[in-house]
Amino acid sequence: MTALITITPREDGQLWTTSLGTSGTYSVGDVARVLGTGQNRLFKFLKARGILRSDRTPRREYLRLGYFRIVRGEYQRADGIVCEYARLPKFILQKETSFAIFVLLSREIMMHWNTTPKTSIHDEAGMRDILVWAGEKPYRLAQIYAEFYKNNKTDFSEYTTIPLWLRSALSEHVDTQSLSVETIQTSDDDQTTKILFATTDDKKIESVIMRHLSGRTTLCVSCQAGCPMACVFCATGKLGLEKNLSAWEILDQVAFAKEVLREEGRELRNIVFMGMGEPFLNYANVSSAIRILTDQKKWDFSSRRVTVSTCGIVPKIREIARDFPQVSLAISLHAPDDETRRAIMPVNHTYPVADLMDSLDEYVQMTNKRVFYEYIMIAGVTDRLELAPMLAELLRGRLAHVNFIPYNPGEGIMGRGHRPSSRLIIEKFQRTLERAGVPSTVRHTMGDDIAAACGQLARKETMSRTLA
Ligand code: SAH
Repeated sequence: MTALITITPREDGQLWTTSLGTSGTYSVGDVARVLGTGQNRLFKFLKARGILRSDRTPRREYLRLGYFRIVRGEYQRADGIVCEYARLPKFILQKETSFAIFVLLSREIMMHWNTTPKTSIHDEAGMRDILVWAGEKPYRLAQIYAEFYKNNKTDFSEYTTIPLWLRSALSEHVDTQSLSVETIQTSDDDQTTKILFATTDDKKIESVIMRHLSGRTTLCVSCQAGCPMACVFCATGKLGLEKNLSAWEILDQVAFAKEVLREEGRELRNIVFMGMGEPFLNYANVSSAIRILTDQKKWDFSSRRVTVSTCGIVPKIREIARDFPQVSLAISLHAPDDETRRAIMPVNHTYPVADLMDSLDEYVQMTNKRVFYEYIMIAGVTDRLELAPMLAELLRGRLAHVNFIPYNPGEGIMGRGHRPSSRLIIEKFQRTLERAGVPSTVRHTMGDDIAAACGQLARKETMSRTLA
């Protein structure tokens, strides 16, 4: 019995090679001895957590230990499944008939877990691991998700559909919001709210909520902290890349905005990946976020109301056509010719306009969806009159919609020396496109008083009123 758990500290002091001998039923006293704690103390501890629920005396209480071993920092079950420490709850619980079954690992390893981040609620595999090790049936996950995604409950103690002890295990190991809010600013017209978040590793990112006059609401999410693309007109581009956001960090922006709008009696309708970062350079996380956003059992956003905007990473355009044919695609085109585009968007060196258009033709063929082209109107740069017919020719006959964005002067590499185009010139461009049968609109600038407009996200606070 005493050889139940063998824990050998490794020389580096970090990793442990541990093997649990036999699985089987052991008395609380045996387990307490191996763990170096008192029988009564362990007994009380287990009772307090609801692991032991009978009224037997400590001496007559038994625990069943499952099969597992720890191999170089990984946790391996007898069936070969390998989990990472970070995935594991501190106590791995299993229930069997009237006995609670559990495995309590060494205190050293518990300390390790104490310092590892919690599992995100969005992390389905991680959540399943917790349930497996808790000895709970997989259907619990559906109950948890219904409470979280459908009933908007973020406090596990309110999850009345699941047992009490599981609620407390979830509170201890599961995180429903990884981002902390640094500031919230709302524009003077109340239409736009910019939220500055800090990630757990203290990277700053921003999201923007827009309340359109029509009643429609849109959330603009970030997918990276900073951005490596270095487009000269964009404030985010000046920061360089700090990190890719995890899918969970993207979803937590949505969770927060949904709650803000819900409190106002509104519902979040559209999600656009037009915040900080280039979605196609963080495709894995962006695509898992989209899968979860549009999952019918979760938030059930309509794919059509999710828009991904890219500066034109060609291979990923083909990929998204295959993976998400319903999701809307926006292209930051900004110039119809290589020369002008190269000067303002370095990405054009790698993916010139012709390659971009080829991939978009394939995209349209595969999805039958209209592509949105964003076109920034910078006086004297992208609004030169000879560019209008070139843009019209480029898009003639293509399934396209152009969105003109008046340049928001900001902190980009380009600096403050440039101005947005006049209304008159934008209208000229629109007329030229119209003659070629290409529909277009002008994007109404929102939130520029709080630096929340396109291309202004650079974690700068402004003078406007700050709510939090
Ligand atoms: N990296 C992606 C997502 C960012 S979307 C992309 O490039 O599409 C942000 C949109 O705002 C892009 O179309 C971007 O080109 C545009 N934008 C950036 N800076 C701007 C500025 N100063 N004024 C107006 N629009 C800007």
